[in-house]
Amino acid sequence: MGKIIGIDLGTTNSLVAVVESGIPLVLADGRGQRLTPSVVRVPASGEPVVGWEARRGRVAHPETTVTSIKRFMGRRGDEVNSNGDTMAYPVHAEGSGPVVVPLQGRDWLPEELSAEILKTLRTIAAEGMIDRPEAAVITVPAYFNDAQRNATRKAGELAGLRVERIINEPTAAALAYGLNSLKEKSKVAVYDLGGGTFDLSILELNEGVFQVLATCGNTRLGGDDIDRVLVDHFAEQIGQEVGPSAAAEPAILARLTEAVQEAKARLSKELKVAITLPFLTPEFSFEHTLTREQLELLAKPIVTRTREYCLKALADAGLASGYLDQLILVGGQTRMPLVREFASEVFGCDEGGPELNTSQNPDEAIALGAAIQGGILCGDFSGMLLLDVTPLSLGIETFGGLMNVIIPRNTTLPVKRGEAFTTVADYQKEVLIHVLQGEREKAADNWSLGRFTLEFEPQPKGVAKVGVQFEIDADGILHVLARDLKTGNEKLVEMSSAVEVDDAEVQQMIEESVEHAFDDIEDRRWIEARLRAKQTTAATRKGLESLGDELEEDQRGAIESALASVESLLARRENGDAVTAAQLREANSKLDAATQPLAGLMMDRVMAEMLEKRGVLPG
Ligand code: AMP
Repeated sequence: MGKIIGIDLGTTNSLVAVVESGIPLVLADGRGQRLTPSVVRVPASGEPVVGWEARRGRVAHPETTVTSIKRFMGRRGDEVNSNGDTMAYPVHAEGSGPVVVPLQGRDWLPEELSAEILKTLRTIAAEGMIDRPEAAVITVPAYFNDAQRNATRKAGELAGLRVERIINEPTAAALAYGLNSLKEKSKVAVYDLGGGTFDLSILELNEGVFQVLATCGNTRLGGDDIDRVLVDHFAEQIGQEVGPSAAAEPAILARLTEAVQEAKARLSKELKVAITLPFLTPEFSFEHTLTREQLELLAKPIVTRTREYCLKALADAGLASGYLDQLILVGGQTRMPLVREFASEVFGCDEGGPELNTSQNPDEAIALGAAIQGGILCGDFSGMLLLDVTPLSLGIETFGGLMNVIIPRNTTLPVKRGEAFTTVADYQKEVLIHVLQGEREKAADNWSLGRFTLEFEPQPKGVAKVGVQFEIDADGILHVLARDLKTGNEKLVEMSSAVEVDDAEVQQMIEESVEHAFDDIEDRRWIEARLRAKQTTAATRKGLESLGDELEEDQRGAIESALASVESLLARRENGDAVTAAQLREANSKLDAATQPLAGLMMDRVMAEMLEKRGVLPG
């Protein structure tokens, strides 16, 4: 097998790396640049311009220069609209269709634009390697859903690469930091603050295997937000001089963005920098000295937003930070001293918490890790495996509109799990398999990944058995198999339409599941108690009709009164009265107890019928 290159396809910057003679290396372009800005300009004629040249040209061509295309990968129009994404270039986002970027008379899909970035990285690799690169491992944020992962894979293929694996960025970073050299059972937090995304993952080293214990993050939180705050801050000042509408001109904003990004990066080393923008308008030049202290004041609220994800990941992993051995910082934005101090404080690095490890270049760790994964796949390294986890639970809808989890959140991938279900109605000819993703108890509160029906041999309710198996492959793609366990008839569906999921809401889903935990559990208990009540009341009524006369009067009275209380609770709740699941459960239990004599009579009747059938007469 030839070499497999590792690609960090970032929101802001992308990199390519490879393992040569056992050493992972980031490859540089002809000018010695290792970072390639994830920027594509589509000119009126000729090939798209990518990287540094496109980034420099952004000021002159803001409307044809595409930045942060990663935000649109695998996204539907309505998802983007509801997120209020605004870009200097045109974005066509409508309904359930894919997002497209109309440029120079052609509609570009995000994966086509990403493919242009990947082609450039492939060329860089081809120039820096002995063999021609044909295959790649590409990284994505941990929260990318199936559709986003598929779009990334497609981009790779459009760039002429065979995509061997799509792996999570924090997992790749952990590999680059050489966690395999730590002692067994070491636990590490990976704090990754890049341009557009934040991820916090907790990993454990176990017998040479990395296992992700938990992962949490936000695909809309990063250095870009700090840039935006700075731009807004200065645009207001500039507006006072040149008027607000002139200050809002795309060309001015593009120049200002570039200037603040540079100032922000320099302030990671220096204490103050001058921002100079000559002739912003023919009459006005902007000059300002920005101090690290001022920058930190503006950036602090954004950096502070990472805290909740750190705490959530720790809670998901069931760990206190004192049990962590190392804290690893990844992503260009973690070069900022404020971010380092903040992460160190959240994890209590100075108070017996993990050791803060900044030994790797934070911009390059992900690409290096992807290259190492490529190296593992082609056998350059042995004894190392990578395991990722599911960010959200996956399951199907069952009776009463409840979510039945098949693969819980944070399960290590790849994974295959199945469960058998039965039917609710007599002689059903088919079942609807409704695949869900999310943390809520009720199906309707979770995301629908897709539905399909399975035909099967009609049988009485409760007899037919349908086996449902979920398999998530190493790329995080879900395959659902449903099988009639009697006939073996089956259907296998790939859930590539996870576009139903709005990734910006993944975090919200987790937060809401915590917020509604008590209500949700109450809802589930109510639905279960109601199902049970419906079944028992129907069976009791039937029993009373046929055998009621054989009961003692007080027995019959007890049954009727228990039945009436169950039915009245159901009716009251239907009328909107506050009836709890606990009340209904108690009434169900009383009905169960009261129907004991009736159940005994029914049993006797069944036995007698059986004996009669066999020709044995009782007595
Ligand atoms: P990444 O997505 O990892 O390439 O990170 C890009 C983000 O890191 C952008 O928001 C950059 O502005 C920011 N960044 C890059 N270098 C520095 C630096 N030296 N100090 C602070 N932020 C930086």
